[in-house]
Amino acid sequence: MEKRQELYRGKSKTVHATDDPDLLWLTFLNDATAFDGAKKAQLDRKGEVNCKINAFIMGKLEAAGVRTHFVRVLSDTEALVRKLTMLPVECVVRNVVAGSMSKRLGIPEGTVLPAPIFEFFYKSDALHDPLINDSHIEVLGWATRDEIARMKALTFRVNDVLKPLFAAAGITLVDYKLEFGNYRGELLLGDELSPDGCRLWDSTTQEKMDKDRFRRDLGNVIEMYIEVAKRLGVPL
Ligand code: ADP
Ligand code: UDP
Repeated sequence: MEKRQELYRGKSKTVHATDDPDLLWLTFLNDATAFDGAKKAQLDRKGEVNCKINAFIMGKLEAAGVRTHFVRVLSDTEALVRKLTMLPVECVVRNVVAGSMSKRLGIPEGTVLPAPIFEFFYKSDALHDPLINDSHIEVLGWATRDEIARMKALTFRVNDVLKPLFAAAGITLVDYKLEFGNYRGELLLGDELSPDGCRLWDSTTQEKMDKDRFRRDLGNVIEMYIEVAKRLGVPL
């Protein structure tokens, strides 16, 4: 597999073409950003740890029957994926109230929800990823009604797989963000699943083990990402 031109440089990954038009080369960077890029830092080993956690989780999802873009890892920080036509929305599922939902609705962080809550956000840094609903997505043409239904079903299905997986590692899956895209008529899970896009709390101490350590200046960011990997049994 040959790495060709850079197609996109994101906040935490680069995307390159390959010699196969159906496949992309993702490189996980050490760049850490928060607040739509307003806060930035370099965190040693973040690319490697996220690439390995992502590969592990994508493998678990595939094994449970969730179709993803993931093909294989190419190196410690690189992965080969199917090239998707991404839908410009972020799908969030929350098991416990935190972050923007806590602020928006005035519900204390840590409130355990009786059932998971699903939210859509419009993927736009310039607009700070606003909360949207099915009607915005359908009427504005960001996805079809059928794609909306499939994104929701797949996002909840991911919760059914990941909640127990993390629970067995002594970690509460508080919330997470997924992105989807189309590949030859099929809707596949894209992007990444790592502590950058999830909230993960130690089940006993409630200590944060995710990107909130960076957002909120709690320190030991990568040490905690490595602890997540260790507990899941991801070899580093
Ligand atoms: P951002 O765009 O938010 O800064 P990243 O740094 O993670 O995020 O950049 C990766 C970009 O690649 C994201 O915009 C994501 O939507 C896109 N992407 C992820 N997986 C795929 C895929 N399989 N095919 C096409 N684009 C993808
Ligand atoms: N999230 C993400 N990328 C985004 C927005 C949110 O990965 O652009 C993740 C975030 O890490 C958390 C979940 O989605 O696990 C819910 O985030 P929230 O809406 O609470 O926003 P925040 O307050 O974290 O910006």
